[in-house]
Amino acid sequence: MHTVRTEVRVEGVVQGVGFRPFVYALATGLGLTGLVGNDLDGVFAEVEGPEAAVAEFLGRLELQAPPLARIERVTTRALRPVRSASFVIAASESQTGLRRTLISADTATCADCLRELADPADRRHEYPFINCTNCGPRFTIVRDVPYDRPLTTMAPFTMCERCAAEYHDPADRRFHAQPTCCPACGPRLRLQNQPGLKNQLGLDHHENPIQAAAGLLRRGRVLAVKGLGGYHLAADAACEQAVAALRQRKHREDKPFAVMAADLAAAAELAEVDEAAAALLTSPARPIVLLPRRPGTTVAQATAPGNRQLGVMLPYTPLHHLLLAAVARPIVLTSGNVSDEPIVYRDDEARATLKGIADAFLTHDRAIHVRTDDSVARSFRGRPMLLRRSRGYVPEPLAVATGFPRPVLACGAELKNTFCLARGRHAFVSQHIGDLENAETLRSFTEGIEHFRRLFDIDPEVVAHDLHPEYLSTKYALELDLPAEGVQHHHAHIASCLADNGETGPVIGVAFDGTGYGTDGTIWGGEFLTASLAAFERGGHLAPVPMPGGAAAIRQPWRMAAAYVADPEVARRHQDHWPAVIAMAAKGINSPLTSSAGRLFDAAAAILGVRDAINYEGQAAVELEQLAETLTPAETRAYPAAVEAGVPFTIRGSDLLHAVIEDRTDGVPAPVIAARFHHGVAALIEAGCLLMRERYDLGTVALSGGVFQNLLLLSATVARLEARGFRVLLHSRVPCNDGGISLGQALVVASREAASRS
Ligand code: ZN
Ligand code: ZN
Ligand code: FE
Repeated sequence: MHTVRTEVRVEGVVQGVGFRPFVYALATGLGLTGLVGNDLDGVFAEVEGPEAAVAEFLGRLELQAPPLARIERVTTRALRPVRSASFVIAASESQTGLRRTLISADTATCADCLRELADPADRRHEYPFINCTNCGPRFTIVRDVPYDRPLTTMAPFTMCERCAAEYHDPADRRFHAQPTCCPACGPRLRLQNQPGLKNQLGLDHHENPIQAAAGLLRRGRVLAVKGLGGYHLAADAACEQAVAALRQRKHREDKPFAVMAADLAAAAELAEVDEAAAALLTSPARPIVLLPRRPGTTVAQATAPGNRQLGVMLPYTPLHHLLLAAVARPIVLTSGNVSDEPIVYRDDEARATLKGIADAFLTHDRAIHVRTDDSVARSFRGRPMLLRRSRGYVPEPLAVATGFPRPVLACGAELKNTFCLARGRHAFVSQHIGDLENAETLRSFTEGIEHFRRLFDIDPEVVAHDLHPEYLSTKYALELDLPAEGVQHHHAHIASCLADNGETGPVIGVAFDGTGYGTDGTIWGGEFLTASLAAFERGGHLAPVPMPGGAAAIRQPWRMAAAYVADPEVARRHQDHWPAVIAMAAKGINSPLTSSAGRLFDAAAAILGVRDAINYEGQAAVELEQLAETLTPAETRAYPAAVEAGVPFTIRGSDLLHAVIEDRTDGVPAPVIAARFHHGVAALIEAGCLLMRERYDLGTVALSGGVFQNLLLLSATVARLEARGFRVLLHSRVPCNDGGISLGQALVVASREAASRS
C-alpha cells in the first residue's frame, strides 16, 4: 500500500487540555508513525503510514478532539515519507516571539474525576483538588506563560512519584495536566476557626474538614469557603437566621444571593429548569443561572427578598461536590466581600475582610492568582444569554471575522467594567472587574490589563475608551502613551451586539440603558441609532429630562418622578425636599439632561410606590418588572407615547407616566399598571424602529443596553418587532449591560481603521 507523510497544523488549540496525547493515541492506534508537538502557532504533527490510515487520522482529528480543545482551523501539507520508526511527542519549544496558543478557562470537575472522587479504592478518593486534562483550575492559577506548572500557583507542590508518572504518560488522562496532584503531594484543605470562637464552635482538628464545615453550616453558621476565583460566603439556604445574619454582616440590603444545589434534581426543586437552563447549569463553565423560583420552596426569604427569580448554580470544584454532599441541602454561596467591594481572593485579605462575617474558614494552600467572580447567565427563547461573563468563560477569546488590523486595548465603561485586548481574529474580553469606584477594583483593572498583555502577548498600538471624561477607565486610557480613540457608549453597545452575532451592520440599534455619555455632552440612554461597526448616527431618542441632583437622582428614583411629572402622591411622600428638587430641575442646577430609559423606569417605579430609593443598581426597574410578573394571565395593553418628528425624533416618555398616574387614580391594580407600562416601552421601541426603517431603509434591529436584562420588556419588544417583520439581534455570549462595552469599543476602533484604509 502507498505510504504518505502529511504535515498537519492545528490552530486555536488551548494549552493543557490533552491535545498532544490525543493526537499520539489517535496516530498510534492507526499504526502511524511521526511526531506531534506545539510551537508558537499551535499544535503541529507529522503523520506517516498507509494513505487510508492517514486519511482516517485526519477525519477523526476534529471529530474526536478533547472536550476543551477549541480547534479553529486545520491545514495539511504533503511531505516526503522519512520511514520514521515510531510516533513521538516532541518537547515544547521555548516560547519566544508571538504566542498564539490559548489558555483554557477554569472548567468544572469532569465525570471521570467525579467517579474517582467517589471511589473508595481510588487514591484520590474524596480528595478536594482532584483534576485532569479535561477539568480543573486553569485561568485562575496561571501566573505567566507558557502554561507550565512552574508558572502556575501549583509550583510550590512537587509531584509525588505516582503523580509524576501519570503526568509523563501520554496514555494517561493526566498527561501534562499542570494542576495534577493527590493527597500525598497536593494542596490541603483545612477548617480554621475565627480567632476567639474556637471553643464556642467546638471544632475538632482531627475531624475531616468537609464534615466539620458541613456540620457548622447545618447548625446555622456562616462559612468562608475558598473557591476557584475567590472566597465565597456560605450559609444553609433553608435557614432563615443564617442567611439573614450573612446579609446583615455583609451590609447587603436587598441584592439577591445565589444558591448552590448539589445537582440538577436539587436545582429543579428550587426553581423551574427548562432544557436550555439545564444545559447552562451543567455546562463546563457552570455559571449562576437565573431561574423562575418555585413557590413554596424551602429557601430562606432573606436569600432573594421579594424576588421571583433565583440564581442557582451547580458544584464546579471537587470541594463543592464534597461539601454539598455532606450538607445534603442547598447552600447560599455569595461573593466573599463587604457590600460593593470586589470579591476577596488572597488568604490574608480574606482573614482580615471576612473575619466579622464568617464564623470559620474552609480554606487551602493553593493560591488564586486572578480574582474571578462567578458568571451569571439565563436562557431566553432556548438560547443562553450571559449577564456576567467571568469564571468558566474567561479568557476564551471571541473570534471576530472582520479582525483587528492593529492590536487594540479597549478600556470599557465604569460600572460592571471589563476590558478587552484584541489582535488578529481574537478578542480577549477580561473577567468581570466590577464598578471602578474604589482602589481595589481599579487595581484589578490595571493589573488585569498587564496580565492579559503578557498572557496573550498583545502589545496594543491603539487604546479605545468611553467618551465620559470622568470614568476612571477613560482617565487610564488617556494616560497611556498610545493613540487614544473615544467611542460613544451606545455605539459600543450596538457594536458589541453586532459582534456577538457575527454581523457588521448597518442596523437599527436600540440602546436602552441607565447612563452613557453622549456626543452632545448630555447623558444618553434611550437611543435609536443607525449603526455599523465603524460609524453611527443618532436617529431618535427619548425626550430628555433633567436629573435633579445628578447621581442623587440615580440613587433616589422619586427625584426622577419629580423631574418628569408633578405627581401629588410622590410630592406628599417627599414634601420636605420636593420644592428644592423641583426648583433645581427647573433652573437646571446640578441637573444634567438625560434621555435615559433606565431613569424612565425609575420614575414609573416611584410613582407606583414600588421604590423611592435604591440599594443596588437597577433595583427599581427589577422590582417594577416583578410586580408586573405577578399577573396571570398577562396584561398586554400598552400605554401610548407621542413621537415628535424631527432629526433626531424624540419620544415623550412622560406620556407613559401620565397614564400610570391616571390608572392609579382610577384604582387600577398596581401589577396591571406595571405591565401596561412595560408594554408601553415596548410599543415606543416598535414606533421608533418603524420610523427608523422608513428613514434609513433598514430591516434589522439590534437590542443592547442593560435595560434589556428586563425579560418582560425584552419578550414584549421582540414580539412586537418580529410581528412588524424586523429581524432582531440579541446578545448571547457577551452581556447586553456595560460588561459588553469593551468588546464593542475594540470593534469600533478596528473597523474605523479598516474603513479609513480602504
Ligand atoms: Zn477531570
Ligand atoms: Zn501526588
Ligand atoms: Fe450602558
